[in-house]
Amino acid sequence: MAFSFHRLLLVFTFIFSSFTSANEQFIITEEMSGEVQLTSILYSTKQPIDADLVTIATANIDWQPYIETQSSSISKRTYWIKFNIAQTAKQPRQQILSLANPHLDFIELYHVKNAEKVESLRLGDLLPFTERAIVSANFLYSFTSNQGDEHHFYLKIENSGAANIPLSLWSSDAYYQNAEQQSVFYGFQLGILAAIGLFSLFIAITSHSYSYSYFSAYVLSITLFVATLHGLAFRFIWPSFPIVQQYALPALLSLSMMFAFLFSEKVMLFKYHNQMMLRLCRICAALSALILIIGLFLSYTAALRITIYAVMIASIMLMYMSATQALKGFKLAKLFALGWVGMMLGALLSGALYLDLIEWDMHAKTPFLLGLSVEVLFMAALLAIRYNDERLAKLKIQQEALEQAKKAKEHKDKALRLEARSSEQLSQKVQERTLELEVALRELNDANQKLTEQAKIDSLTGVKNRSSFDKRIIAEGRISRRQQTPMAVLMLDLDHFKSINDSFGHLAGDQALRIVAKMLKQNLKRPTDLVSRFGGEEFAIILPNTDQVGAQQVAETIRKAISEQPIVWGEESFPLTVSIGVNSEIITSEEHTTLLLEQADKALYQAKNEGRNRTKLYSPI
Ligand code: GH3
Ligand code: MG
Ligand code: MG
Repeated sequence: MAFSFHRLLLVFTFIFSSFTSANEQFIITEEMSGEVQLTSILYSTKQPIDADLVTIATANIDWQPYIETQSSSISKRTYWIKFNIAQTAKQPRQQILSLANPHLDFIELYHVKNAEKVESLRLGDLLPFTERAIVSANFLYSFTSNQGDEHHFYLKIENSGAANIPLSLWSSDAYYQNAEQQSVFYGFQLGILAAIGLFSLFIAITSHSYSYSYFSAYVLSITLFVATLHGLAFRFIWPSFPIVQQYALPALLSLSMMFAFLFSEKVMLFKYHNQMMLRLCRICAALSALILIIGLFLSYTAALRITIYAVMIASIMLMYMSATQALKGFKLAKLFALGWVGMMLGALLSGALYLDLIEWDMHAKTPFLLGLSVEVLFMAALLAIRYNDERLAKLKIQQEALEQAKKAKEHKDKALRLEARSSEQLSQKVQERTLELEVALRELNDANQKLTEQAKIDSLTGVKNRSSFDKRIIAEGRISRRQQTPMAVLMLDLDHFKSINDSFGHLAGDQALRIVAKMLKQNLKRPTDLVSRFGGEEFAIILPNTDQVGAQQVAETIRKAISEQPIVWGEESFPLTVSIGVNSEIITSEEHTTLLLEQADKALYQAKNEGRNRTKLYSPI
């Protein structure tokens, strides 16, 4: 197969070495024909490298005619070139001899006019830019030419890059016109690249996005690479440092390659879709960094050669990666592949122009540089799309989170409402129960009170019972003792009660007891006075703070009131009398109280014995 890998490699070499040169070798511009005549261009490579140019010029050397298709492989070489120019035009002219490869290492020029030496000078990017006579990225030599002049030029060119020596002769006017056009193109291209690079840098800084950081680093290193390629970096950025110029091209190429891998990995989202390719990209980025560092220790030729091969392989790998991802249907990979294809097409077109496979009126590197710009633009757009996708995805997630939060809040509110309602119900119930309980307690209390009251009351007559009396008499006894006031006790017994029972029945007897009790209550005015049923048909009365006279009066009033009130039972009525024993003393001891009661009882018996229906004050006899 004629189309071997070696051939492919050669095409790539041409494409990439076209960075470092132009294809217009030894061209005399159209405008000059008829006015300036180029006699011949001869070259030789057989001279010893350290030979003196003047010796070469005068010596009889076997010069070869220049053949246009030479090997453009990258190597360190020395070229010896000789050509003559004769002017036919009448007017004197300012001419410019141009070597439009800013990367030629070292140039020695020897100019002989009409068999007389005019000038010999040294140029090349091994010398500081500041030493150049004419300030230009390309190497220029300016001279005046009159009608009939014959110019002989001898050039010694040493170069370690691609062996392209784009020599051309211009009229001064034509040269600057052309240079201006070229400046506009370069400025435009560099401007676009730098703008995208800086813009991405700002986005990277503000958004902390890795993909934008890598992309801006990629674009900025490409920008610097293109500027170096055009000789503009040497002219404007590091004019005094030819050493930088020597390493800039391979170093920047490796740097761009490294960032291209890092950026591609991010933009095609290998982290999420393809771990193998993610690893591959990172390894390749590391290798690019390694090549960059190794390149600094190698010769320019070796570094450039290694870097260009690495870039070739890297381009194919990135093509392959993006193509496989694109075939799997990833939108971003598709766009990435398209952008990359754009650049590769430009590179291929450059190669084809370079190899004269097609004819097109443009610089061979122009399609590649255009392709590069298109690729950078494409990637910028791609990054914007990715960024927007991410933004939308984030927005969606945010919205979902918001909705969920809303739902959660609703649920919580509902739960809270339920809780509030149930707690309200609960407290209401508790209140109700508490109220019921309170009512029950009060009722119980009332019942208890009634019970205790009832326990103190004699059920038949409604006056206090015996136990009440027993407690009260002790209490009143103590009061009397403390206050030194007399306490009176009345013992009252119904007269001939047995016969009432016998004559009218027990119920009539009970009625009589009730009436006596009622009358006792009516006749006792002080609230502290106490009437109690002592037992059977006997009543005991306590009159606190009452002396013997007062007590006897109360007893007499009672006796009289009862004796004047006959008991009505059915249709009959019968008289009722009572006998009352009275005693009153200031109590002096606990036993005195009991004694007071016994003495009142004794007085009652005396009253009975003396004939009943009377009151009797106790006397010791
Ligand atoms: P006197 O005291 O005048 O000497 O004569 P008396 O008939 O009242 O004497 P006694 O003390 O012997 O009689 C008391 C009677 O009182 C005996 C009992 O039948 C009657 N009695 C006692 N308690 C009650 C009671 O609660 N109801 C009725 N109906 N009779 C009672
Ligand atoms: Mg009795
Ligand atoms: Mg009696």
